[in-house]
Amino acid sequence: MQISQQQLDLVNDRIRALVEAGSFYGKKLAEAGITHVETPEDFTKLPFSEKKDLRDAYPLGLMTAPEEEIVRIHSSSGTTGTPVIIPYTAKDVDDWAIMFKRCYETAGITNMDRIQITPGYGLWTAGIGFQNGAEKLGAMVIPMGPGNTDKQLQMMQDMKSTVLCSTSSYALLLAEEIEKRGIKKNIHLKKGVIGSERWSDKMRKHISESLGIELYDIYGLTEIYGPGIGINCEYNEGMHYWDDFLYIEIIDPKTGEPVPDGEMGEIVITTLVKEGAPLIRYRTHDLSRIIPGKCKCGRCYPRLDTIMGRTDDMMKIKGVNVFPSQIEEVLANFNEINSEYQIRISHLDGKDTMRIYVESTGDVDFESLSKRIAEKVKSRIGFTPIVKVVEVGVLPRSMKKTARVIDERFD
Ligand code: ZN
Repeated sequence: MQISQQQLDLVNDRIRALVEAGSFYGKKLAEAGITHVETPEDFTKLPFSEKKDLRDAYPLGLMTAPEEEIVRIHSSSGTTGTPVIIPYTAKDVDDWAIMFKRCYETAGITNMDRIQITPGYGLWTAGIGFQNGAEKLGAMVIPMGPGNTDKQLQMMQDMKSTVLCSTSSYALLLAEEIEKRGIKKNIHLKKGVIGSERWSDKMRKHISESLGIELYDIYGLTEIYGPGIGINCEYNEGMHYWDDFLYIEIIDPKTGEPVPDGEMGEIVITTLVKEGAPLIRYRTHDLSRIIPGKCKCGRCYPRLDTIMGRTDDMMKIKGVNVFPSQIEEVLANFNEINSEYQIRISHLDGKDTMRIYVESTGDVDFESLSKRIAEKVKSRIGFTPIVKVVEVGVLPRSMKKTARVIDERFD
């Protein structure tokens, strides 16, 4: 999706602020001699920002507005290396709440809803993001924070919560507890707004059916406000995102070149109005695609497909970018096989070959099954793999997705 003139004007405002503040990106621009962009082509020549840049700016090197305007910071978890500190102005906090309110509205949530918030509060952007958006909407917030399942379920019943905000794993745990305790009749939940970790369709179906609720996926990352920058609508064909606040490009993670709408690649985000810590062309390493065309709901906001994983998982085979999650999704549609699989990529006689091993769950014709799987995989990724069906228990058991892919080309 090409950047519009209006968006370019906003980018130029941000470029000016970044250069004036002398923040890391301002210095990058000054070094490259860039003071403004005029055309969409100019924009694609702007340098990317990386997580490493943000870490190097610790603690306050990202601060782009004057200190007296900064009202809050948030931080990404520092489990690996230095954390990232994001300063917010009052306008940033308000803009974020406006976006989040829009998310709730897109999910059909109103000021008559009672929203139980279970993600964490504190340095995290999660809990407080859900809360500010709900207050902006005028709904009643039940700010639980994480854990303490007994208390969660007590409040859920007593307060007659109608919306649950949580991670998919916690929603699953609550669903199972409600079933175990036989208290389903006291639960008034209608909707769940679920944070953006990747989860399977099977899990989604399970949570939705056992709680009897509609589920909505919310997208966001600490570096770009937090959760609330996009959500799916009632048609559930991708997530709408707010292009008056953000410009999103999809790039080929290997070359850095933009890919056409509809093609899979890495999500790169530019904040258009952020003051405390504006980011230009921030590489998220999340994989998705822009869904071309207008949504059936009639909303004019563009759409991102479900997050398909991380760029680190990507394989380049026969010149095509392939992600294990694409294969996994195809395989999940076959009842004749279980969830174990292995992908082996090799290079023979000058050609790449992909072999997919799957385990049969019963008495089926292995040959016709492998043919059907190969056809479905081809329609998804564009070339035909070799599919081998084996007996249950033949493949090595492993918990990690990455261990399922073996690339023998570079041995
Ligand atoms: Zn829609």
